[in-house]
Amino acid sequence: MGILEQPYIDAGYKILWAYLGFLFLGFVSSMFIARYFTKSIISPIKKLIEGTEAIAKGEFKGIDVITHDEIGELANAFNDMDAKLQNTMADLISSRNEIEAIFESISDVASAQDMDMKITFANRLAKDMYGDDIIGQFCYNVYEGKSEVCDDCPATSLLETGGVVRTIHSKYDNEGVQSHIETTGSPLKDEQGNISGMVMIRRDVTEQKTLENELRVSYVNLETAYEELKQLDKMKSELVANISHEIRTPLTSIRGYTELMLDGTLGQTTNQQLKGMKVVLRNVDRLTRMISNVLDLSKFDQQERVVKEVGLKEIIKHAVDDFENEIPYKSIGITVDVSDNLILECDADALEQVFINLLGNAIKFTDKGGSVSIQAYYEDEHHIHIEVIDTGVGIPEDKFELVFDRFYQIDASSTRKYGGTGLGLAITKKIVEWHKGTIWVRNNPNGSSGSVFHIILPRKHN
Ligand code: ADP
Repeated sequence: MGILEQPYIDAGYKILWAYLGFLFLGFVSSMFIARYFTKSIISPIKKLIEGTEAIAKGEFKGIDVITHDEIGELANAFNDMDAKLQNTMADLISSRNEIEAIFESISDVASAQDMDMKITFANRLAKDMYGDDIIGQFCYNVYEGKSEVCDDCPATSLLETGGVVRTIHSKYDNEGVQSHIETTGSPLKDEQGNISGMVMIRRDVTEQKTLENELRVSYVNLETAYEELKQLDKMKSELVANISHEIRTPLTSIRGYTELMLDGTLGQTTNQQLKGMKVVLRNVDRLTRMISNVLDLSKFDQQERVVKEVGLKEIIKHAVDDFENEIPYKSIGITVDVSDNLILECDADALEQVFINLLGNAIKFTDKGGSVSIQAYYEDEHHIHIEVIDTGVGIPEDKFELVFDRFYQIDASSTRKYGGTGLGLAITKKIVEWHKGTIWVRNNPNGSSGSVFHIILPRKHN
């Protein structure tokens, strides 16, 4: 083989240099291409990866990618998602704060527990009472000091019913003191509506229970006492009715014989004797009236009533006649200003008793020489207004209501001037109200003293 000639060698070098030149150019341009790829594709992807990692840590603050390709769109979607996520997180935090605040404001022991009966959340009161470390512990262990689920566990019935449960159970402390705990349990549900835990609110209701028991015992005692009282009242009413009847019968006989003596049927009597007999008659009448009231009050509700249309004047006249001995004795002027056309439906006997009582009081509480009058007029188309007016001792304003109470007497002392039982106005009011009427008393406006008893009665009974 011969030695290469110089021109061939030069040409070879040229080719080599040209090749090296191309190689260098290729290297430089691939450097630029690589840089371009890194900047426009790999870097945004890296930012996306960093972004997802930040979201996972809850620290994401947005991805700064300004490209208009798919990666740019992906970054924008990431940023949108982040904004929504942050709003959702804010809502969740505020709801959680609200729930915590509600829990804390409950003045009972409140806690949440999972399906394994482990406490997951507890309010301050629960922690103060059972310790700060109760989270994660079994509820039966914390609250009941037991190592397994209680027999009457409210959580068990909550799981059975799926709704709110309320139970009361007793427990004993180390000293054997019993207390009563009311537990209200409400289910906590997941997004599918399945029970995932429960909230339990425990309240010590020992005091309330004790009071309830005491109340129950008192109620039973009261009921027994009431039954006994009712029985006694019945016996008393029967006794009063019997005695009244037994007294009335001889009184009728005393009255009859006294009248026979007064009109001379039983022979001549001296003036002195006549005077004495009038006193007997007056007192017999008073006693009869008193007995009527006692009898009426004890038997009022059982008495049969006959309602018919009667002239008021006739009833009042009968009542006034009852005092034929009393009126001259006390020399009291009595006037009846009632027109004949005042007709009403009533039990005439009962209404007569009303006027006997009012007239009896008016005469009794009016000194000798005083006056008593009865007036009646139509109050309106359907009602009659009656006034019994006296010029007697009067009634203090603060006693206007009280005088209608059973046994009430303004002067109830044993040394009182006026006799009586304190029953007359009570029975009077009862009779008036039975007729659907009203009765009240005021001062006599026309005299220096005295009272006016007002009665308003309906003309028709029904
Ligand atoms: P009593 O049998 O005592 O009269 P009442 O029930 O009829 O019982 O009256 C109750 C009380 O009302 C009387 O004791 C008396 O104090 C007072 N009272 C009743 N009517 C009059 C009256 N017209 N004037 C003054 N006081 C009267």
